[in-house]
Amino acid sequence: MQERCFWDDPGYEANDPLAGNERADWLIVGGGVSGLFAAYFLLKRGERDIVLIERGAVGSGSTGHSAGMLIGDLQTGPWSAVIAKYGAEAARAYMSAQEDAQRIVRSLIENEGIACDFSMRDFVLINDSEWAIRRTMHEFAARQAIDPRHPTLLDEEELRNEIRSGEFYFGEHLEQGLTVNPLKFAHGVKAYLVRHGVRVYEHTPFLSYRDGVAYMPHGTVSCGHIIHASGTWLRDPSLKNYMTTIGITRPLSQGELSALNLADKDMFLDDGKRSFHYGKITADDRLLLGYGDVLGSSSSAVVRLHMSHVDNIRHFIRRFTGYDIPLEHAWTGQYSLSTGLLPQVIVGERESSIGGAGTQIASITAVSYLVSALYHDPHPLDALFYAD
Ligand SMILES: Cc1cc2nc3c(=O)[nH]c(=O)nc-3n(C[C@H](O)[C@H](O)[C@H](O)COP(=O)(O)OP(=O)(O)OC[C@H]3O[C@@H](n4cnc5c(N)ncnc54)[C@H](O)[C@@H]3O)c2cc1C
Repeated sequence: MQERCFWDDPGYEANDPLAGNERADWLIVGGGVSGLFAAYFLLKRGERDIVLIERGAVGSGSTGHSAGMLIGDLQTGPWSAVIAKYGAEAARAYMSAQEDAQRIVRSLIENEGIACDFSMRDFVLINDSEWAIRRTMHEFAARQAIDPRHPTLLDEEELRNEIRSGEFYFGEHLEQGLTVNPLKFAHGVKAYLVRHGVRVYEHTPFLSYRDGVAYMPHGTVSCGHIIHASGTWLRDPSLKNYMTTIGITRPLSQGELSALNLADKDMFLDDGKRSFHYGKITADDRLLLGYGDVLGSSSSAVVRLHMSHVDNIRHFIRRFTGYDIPLEHAWTGQYSLSTGLLPQVIVGERESSIGGAGTQIASITAVSYLVSALYHDPHPLDALFYAD
């Protein structure tokens, strides 16, 4: 088993590091999905003087180490708590903003022809314990109160059609989601930004910011506004880093996929225990399984392989498929999660930051809001983000 990330983008060429002193209206720190989409939304506003810096290569943080399941559900949440605190109308606006974020990603990929193994898949939630089902039913009711079309419960036969294992006896269909190779996706978005004039410097760690000037090892950027989107490296008491591990099997044959009822390649989430499993079939027909959600202690987006997570993934594969299918790749990454119900969006006169959304669609939703707030535009999400 190779103890490293499976995602690859052969032939990718990183941009040169910053060398010298520059000026820009906007400086974005971080080349993950948050920073890339901050630049994207600024471009959509007609901004043309944007610099983005990334300490490694674009996508080298949580984004490029994720499972690439771009679904519009909450990691911060849950929806029931969002409704209880902000009301059903605000929760509906938040869900609809996440759907918008998904649509933006989809049209960007399709219109720009970003080659990132993209497809749309159903997303299924499965459970195996009374306790988990009670909790999930509570959330189900909350989500139905926001949008009665989603989710829908699966009856026993439908569940068996989705998941072969008899061990799960509860299932619901959430909305459709996008699946991508997340590294190629990030690189494709970067290429789009560069084509539209964003100056991207890779291998350029941000060091400090004083009086409108950002300092990097070999240069400075004097900027009108700086947006921090540095993921697990953001320091704030309301953000915590969580570790999660992904294992990937060999490619499965069409016969195996059909026998497992995975030939239609759904994505799934087992929300059964304290930590959860998530999974999908990759473009080359491998079973990808992720597990774990334990507090991390470092800033790094990639950490040492968590062996008990790997054991858990192996055990889950046995339960899920009925077979021992060996893992060919495994890695453990970290992502930042807000301790509150919402991602952390800080809007300042000259300095702003975004973090802790927990998922990529929620990150894009939050960064879309951040850019709108920088223009002081009224926004449907004001009721949530300005409420506290
Ligand atoms: C194993 C794993 C699986 C996941 N699976 C999914 C999934 O399937 N679907 C989903 O939606 N979410 C998933 N997530 C969560 C998701 O990846 C993150 O929520 C999201 O990518 C965060 O994006 P970001 O841009 O905020 O952070 P990042 O992607 O970490 O980007 C921050 C960037 O800032 C850079 N940076 C940091 N410090 C500096 C500095 N000083 N100077 C310059 N640059 C700096 C970092 O190098 C990094 O590239 C997963 C996460 C992990 C770890």
